[in-house]
Amino acid sequence: MDRKKFLVVTLLAAAGFFFGARTADAYVLETWQPPIKKLFLHFTEYNERPKTEVVVIHHAGFPEGDKDSSAEGIHKFHQDVNGWAGIGYHFVIRKDGTIEQGRKITAVGAHALHHNMNSIGICVAGNFEMASPTHEQMKSLKLLTAWLCQKYKLDPLEKGVIVGHKNLNDTDCPGKNLYKRLDEIRYWCRDFLKEN
Ligand SMILES: [Zn+2]
Repeated sequence: MDRKKFLVVTLLAAAGFFFGARTADAYVLETWQPPIKKLFLHFTEYNERPKTEVVVIHHAGFPEGDKDSSAEGIHKFHQDVNGWAGIGYHFVIRKDGTIEQGRKITAVGAHALHHNMNSIGICVAGNFEMASPTHEQMKSLKLLTAWLCQKYKLDPLEKGVIVGHKNLNDTDCPGKNLYKRLDEIRYWCRDFLKEN
């Protein structure tokens, strides 16, 4: 820890002590977050997720090709076509790297059959059977995944913590060109969390 960071942590520890609520570490963990665009989508219903042990990575995977998708567009599709309460994913990462909020982060998602009660679903816009995620998407995906690991106290290198949808269900999702980079994401998160 450098001197500046040490001072900040010490000050936060003192503040935490005086306000009696939390430790410096807890304060730091709760305040660090990648930018997330909130869309205030309307859901017909949702249930609170009892636990969070897995981060599941998806692609949008539209068969007609590699294209950008918004959380709003997927929300409408999941409501109108699938008849769901709303978008099944908790996050959507656009081609330009913008992270959009889908389903409420505390809610049970609808993205990985039989695995929704303990997982968060991230959808990366595009079809990665035929194309590759953009540099901006990879950057946002790594940051978001690291933040989720920190928030839910998950070890990015533990087996079954950061997975592709195909690890859980019979599907090609998140596409071979993203799936092959999951280890890169796991190690990046481990290193990033060690330094921050
Ligand atoms: Zn999927």
